[in-house]
Amino acid sequence: MSHVLAAVAWPYANGPRHIGHVSGFGVPSDVFSRYMRMAGHDVLMVSGTDEHGTPIQVQADAEGLTPRELADRYNRVIVEDLHGLGLSYDLFTRTTTRNHYAVVQELFEGMYRNGYIVPKTTMGAISPSTGRTLPDRYIEGTCPICGYGSARGDQCDNCGNQLDPIDLIDPKSKINGETPKFVETEHFFLDLPALADVLRQWLDTREGWRPNVLRFSRNLLDDLQPRAITRDLEWGVPIPLDDWRERTDKRIYVWFDAVIGYLSASIEWARRSGDPEAWRRWWSTDGAGKDAQAYYFMGKDNIVFHSVIWPALLAGYSGEGSRDGEPGQLGRLNLPTEVVSSEFLTMEGRKFSSSRRVVIYVRDFLERYDADALRYFIAVAGPESNDTDFTWAEFLRRNNDELVAGWGNLVNRSISMAAKNFGQIPAVDPNGLTEADEALLAVARAGFTTVGDLIARHRQKQAIGEAMKVVAEANKYLSDQAPWKLKDEADKPRMGTILHVALQVVSDANTLLTPFLPHSAQKVHELLGGTGVHAPMPVIEQVEDLDGGPAYPVLTGDYTQGARWESVPLAVGRPLAAPKPIFRKLDPSIVDEELARLDS
Ligand SMILES: [Zn+2]
Repeated sequence: MSHVLAAVAWPYANGPRHIGHVSGFGVPSDVFSRYMRMAGHDVLMVSGTDEHGTPIQVQADAEGLTPRELADRYNRVIVEDLHGLGLSYDLFTRTTTRNHYAVVQELFEGMYRNGYIVPKTTMGAISPSTGRTLPDRYIEGTCPICGYGSARGDQCDNCGNQLDPIDLIDPKSKINGETPKFVETEHFFLDLPALADVLRQWLDTREGWRPNVLRFSRNLLDDLQPRAITRDLEWGVPIPLDDWRERTDKRIYVWFDAVIGYLSASIEWARRSGDPEAWRRWWSTDGAGKDAQAYYFMGKDNIVFHSVIWPALLAGYSGEGSRDGEPGQLGRLNLPTEVVSSEFLTMEGRKFSSSRRVVIYVRDFLERYDADALRYFIAVAGPESNDTDFTWAEFLRRNNDELVAGWGNLVNRSISMAAKNFGQIPAVDPNGLTEADEALLAVARAGFTTVGDLIARHRQKQAIGEAMKVVAEANKYLSDQAPWKLKDEADKPRMGTILHVALQVVSDANTLLTPFLPHSAQKVHELLGGTGVHAPMPVIEQVEDLDGGPAYPVLTGDYTQGARWESVPLAVGRPLAAPKPIFRKLDPSIVDEELARLDS
């Protein structure tokens, strides 16, 4: 058993989540965490809403709200979305807690002391008409690199290069069209070149990463420049240095504070657990967390933050870059074991876009369909290592032909036959098992090694494929053995044996599918006469801020109960009732209905 950190990307609190968001990292990180817990590991799964930065400030201004009010609204919406999908966070919190502010400031100070954060004077844009700072992404102009006409001040969406607004040709404010004025402004920079060697050594020792993620990360190291980590902005974490702390016009840049959320959420979880030092078992390089593993889940647009910026912060704070230094008061901290990045999901061949209504929000989806139907689609057809397309026709097919006709049918027919003919889990005939019986049981048992190993290596598509092969074998076994033909009293012991074997394999397959389909797994467990928690679920709790800030909702849960990753022999004689279907067959008309919604 070991300590496993599942660090899940932080959704930005400016709107509800759509299924593209949760297919890249939400569901895959939950599948991984559920499996690792079932296999006996001590998992800590953390995340929260990312609530600072210019877009929240600008959107709040537009809606006549304070940034905090806007963040409150979407924090709650997102917590409910993730809860609806059954994502088993130990703590899903937010970046506006006082605990988070304190941890961000501690990391900033530690890195500053070690010389990895340095002040620098740069040119910043202000609006001539209001005198207010004009954020980078609200300036548009021609890209100096590729000539694209609508490059943003922070990045060109055409060539992908990061930009400075002052480099844009003919810059204009996107808010009111005026030409910004550039004035001198002082900011703090993360000295990434001083951390390049330690990052390279760390990347060189990584094993088992998806090849495209490792290649992309290595390339990022070839051209590391110092990077601004503060901004001219009122909304964010204050800079914790003398002469800066009281200033209301300078804040720590949102991406710097958001990645530190993994650590601050772990600390918050520990403080709430009653053992404030417990987080060290997942984080401390020396001692408690020495053998811990840390997996980070995100979409590919966030790789740079997890394979360069975050490890650079951890190394710099721990005093491990070319300027050396001393670890801060939190001690030396573990770098990521693996950055698990997924590709993009598109929608009916188009990019998700809330403004163009090419979108399906998680909450709308869950109003019309079951969480496990979406989880199944994501597992078998999600963007694990290629961009993939969500289409309603494919969703319908996967749901009806695979989930309902494959797994649902196996559960239903084996339990209803056993319930009708025996009213309980039948015993095995004293004459013993046939070769076919033994072969099927062996296939199911072997699944625990195969499927588990694939999930542990983040090959979830293959993993669920292997689990569904067990289901297909069991369906074939039932057809071959045809227990419904064994009507004579003399044949009943053999019928009992066949159904016993089938139910045992249903139980095993259910365990194999539990990380993917936790809601239906609990139902199947109960249909087999099981009691208690099989697949634990998260709960939403309203909590007090630990340090006197406003209360807020978190997603948390007790995941100590539940099935283990092993075949459990069925108890002969346990009563069985006629089952209700566990999955809903969908009418083909939903495809046209959904496509009409998309284009409305
Ligand atoms: Zn460009």
